[in-house]
Amino acid sequence: MTQYLYVSEVGEVTASEEETQALACRLAAVLKAGDVLLLSGDLGAGKTTFVRGLAQGLGIDPAEVSSPTFTLVHEYRGGRLTLYHADLYRLDGAATGDLGLEEIGVKDGVLAIEWPDRLSHDMPGARVVTLETVGESTRRITIPSGSSGLPS
Ligand code: ADP
Ligand code: MG
Repeated sequence: MTQYLYVSEVGEVTASEEETQALACRLAAVLKAGDVLLLSGDLGAGKTTFVRGLAQGLGIDPAEVSSPTFTLVHEYRGGRLTLYHADLYRLDGAATGDLGLEEIGVKDGVLAIEWPDRLSHDMPGARVVTLETVGESTRRITIPSGSSGLPS
């Protein structure tokens, strides 16, 4: 069982890619080394967009963030914290144990994981951010507020 560290959540509806990025940017300001975010949502829900916002908030050029293709884990340095970005879309659960994601999560940075349902191991302390497509340009984004510092 994944353990969630929060007791309440912050839910917001964004009306554009820019708004989603801005929301993630605000969250990034309160992240600390070792934080793990599981980005849960369908294709096109805005997970990668959210990671761009995290990058921006950490002081990393958001344009550097792409959808990882053959590289499963990308590493972006030069910001307040290192941002690790994993996209497990192409994986089946059996293989994720070899990626060393658990170790990354407790190191020097923040780890954001797209398609966390592919994980074969628990990520203790990970927080789930849920992105749902409401309309063509609207997304409902739920962030556990426990330590996010976001206004509720
Ligand atoms: P995912 O990584 O979840 O597959 P992406 O972030 O790569 O999703 O893509 C999201 C797509 O949805 C982009 O084409 C983006 O322009 C579009 N979009 C429309 N509205 C929003 C919104 N409110 N938030 C995020 N993306 C949005
Ligand atoms: Mg993506």
